[in-house]
Amino acid sequence: MLGSKVENLFHVLDQTTEILMQSCQLTYLEALVETGENLFQGDILQPVDDVAKKRMEKLYQSIKLEMLSKEEIRRAFQLVTLKGMRDYVQPHHQMTPDSIGILISGLLREFLINGHIETFTLLDPAVGTGNLVATIQNQLSDYAIEAYGVEVDDVLLKLAYVQANLQEQSIQLYNQDALEPLFIDPVDVVVSDLPVGYYPRKEFAKEYQLDREEGHAFSHYLFIEQSLKHTKPGGLLFFVIPNDLFEGEDAAKLHAFLKEHAFIQGLIQLPLSMFKNERNAKSIFILKKKKEGEAPPKKVFMAQMPKLTNKNAVQDIISQIRIWLREEAK
Ligand code: SAM
Repeated sequence: MLGSKVENLFHVLDQTTEILMQSCQLTYLEALVETGENLFQGDILQPVDDVAKKRMEKLYQSIKLEMLSKEEIRRAFQLVTLKGMRDYVQPHHQMTPDSIGILISGLLREFLINGHIETFTLLDPAVGTGNLVATIQNQLSDYAIEAYGVEVDDVLLKLAYVQANLQEQSIQLYNQDALEPLFIDPVDVVVSDLPVGYYPRKEFAKEYQLDREEGHAFSHYLFIEQSLKHTKPGGLLFFVIPNDLFEGEDAAKLHAFLKEHAFIQGLIQLPLSMFKNERNAKSIFILKKKKEGEAPPKKVFMAQMPKLTNKNAVQDIISQIRIWLREEAK
């Protein structure tokens, strides 16, 4: 069951979004950006009529943001975004559910503890609504994180901006195609739920080793290459990837590329039940960028998650990775 504070904020965001959709002829997600901004600024910034204004004021007054934790704000935001995304057509551009974000945070924490890291830079080159990064920032609130996000879709990026403001989380956001040159220094950690598909912009694709000679390159391949380019040697990368990443005729090229630049740390298959269609099922793929003097792991960590809703199952994987990291350090 939802906490009532989360439910209340969801209700306020949802209702004010509906009002703004009607008054300003916006889509649900566009209107959600506007209401989020109103809530943050403590004002109604759109030219709405008096009736709409009064209804919105009443709704905003019913909520006291300072009484909500960052996680409660994020969860309410996740629910409204989910509602808005139902009409958002592209299946590969969906928000990353927090069940995945929580699992990645737990895994990342083990790597950070193992590496005695207390502060780090974080990049999500496909930041979308910002839900994945926000989940990590909230779960790892005991770490100083300097976060960066890139997103080509301006509505999604505005959502990331608005929710970061409301949660008082700091993140630098860039509205651009992440496969164009990025003006972001290499980071310690990359996390990304990769967009899967073809990348049509040949003028940028040709700069990548993983471009295809014939036809369009795979954007998920180019994202992996771009991410490794923007990771410090010895840095970590956590990708949400399609299970069939290593299938198909181009897979050998990806293997060879990874062998040259990274050490594969682990592959964790997410529960098939999470995905409407088994063909769209995903895994978490963990890499470490090669660093001089470092050796590849003795054994790659492999696991299959039974269910993400089951706390014990998540804890069990975290314990397994802890043991694996200890063994690797010997
Ligand atoms: N983690 C995100 C979240 O929590 O909302 C969701 C990521 S979604 C699976 C993939 C994202 O990649 C989409 O938001 C999509 O718009 C974005 N994307 C696709 N191609 C891109 C590109 N070339 N440059 C930047 N972003 C891109």
